[in-house]
Amino acid sequence: MTIAFIADLHLSSQRPRAVEMFTQFLRRGAAKLEQIYILGDLFDYWVGDDGAGALGHEKVEMELRAATEKGARIFFMRGNRDFLIGEDFARRANCELLPDPAVIEPGRRLLLTHGDALCTDDKEHQEARGKMLSEKWKRVFLEKPLDARMQTAAEMRAQSEAGKLQKDMKIMDVNQGAVEELMLRHRADVLIHGHTHRPAVHQFTLAGKPAWRYVLGDWFDGRSAAYYAGGKLALRK
Ligand code: MN
Repeated sequence: MTIAFIADLHLSSQRPRAVEMFTQFLRRGAAKLEQIYILGDLFDYWVGDDGAGALGHEKVEMELRAATEKGARIFFMRGNRDFLIGEDFARRANCELLPDPAVIEPGRRLLLTHGDALCTDDKEHQEARGKMLSEKWKRVFLEKPLDARMQTAAEMRAQSEAGKLQKDMKIMDVNQGAVEELMLRHRADVLIHGHTHRPAVHQFTLAGKPAWRYVLGDWFDGRSAAYYAGGKLALRK
């Protein structure tokens, strides 16, 4: 069984090259990958499942569905950019929604998360995250007309980009204590996540034993994915 893990494609109509790479990945992968795990931020932003057409993402939904019809199961974990993905998207794209974090056991225990919850040094992000993940915030937002939601999303992205320029690189990375706490809580010695756009395999000691953290890269200059096959996990940046 071969499983692929990807994250942070940040697909948008402004980034047609990434959409093209993803389409190729799905078309080639559908035949040889049994499972594909998308660990968040597939889309640069999401304004509700009824806004997929307005953002130009209907083709991506069709490609996801087509891949599942060729046999690949596709699992979708929401990221901090596409946290508004809902059941209607999942039905159209034929993807199975996953909670964050999630544990899978394809022969080895793998802990999956988008990764932003681990960036505990970025207090501002955690505060905004707490607010936007509340059911009330989501309900109020999704009840607004689509054009108002598009407007809010554009403003939020501009703010987020401006904020990133002022922040120290270090506080935007994961906090090692948060990583270890999550892994111990889920009894996992392998963690796979995205979000930080810093592809790498980090090995460290957890409760006296070796542990690994696989960080998926973004798809800005090329694809990045981790593959699990025959009990082995490999990151291809
Ligand atoms: Mn993210």
